[in-house]
Amino acid sequence: MPEKDDGYIVRHEEMTMQMKTLEVEVVRVKITLACTECKQRNYNMTKEKKNHPERMETQKYCKFCRKHTLHKETK
Ligand SMILES: [Zn+2]
Repeated sequence: MPEKDDGYIVRHEEMTMQMKTLEVEVVRVKITLACTECKQRNYNMTKEKKNHPERMETQKYCKFCRKHTLHKETK
């Protein structure tokens, strides 16, 4: 019965994809990084909440300050 087998495989793949999507939504969150000197929101990115439960702070280039400044996560 090859037709029945194919149908089973397709359903199984769909289920696996749904589970992967759910995992991405739970673990990765969208954040905005703002320059601490001019307060401009320069970067949109996602972070792993598991790895960075606190607010992120990172050195990034600010085109308004025209130099690397400390950027902090904002809502
Ligand atoms: Zn700046």
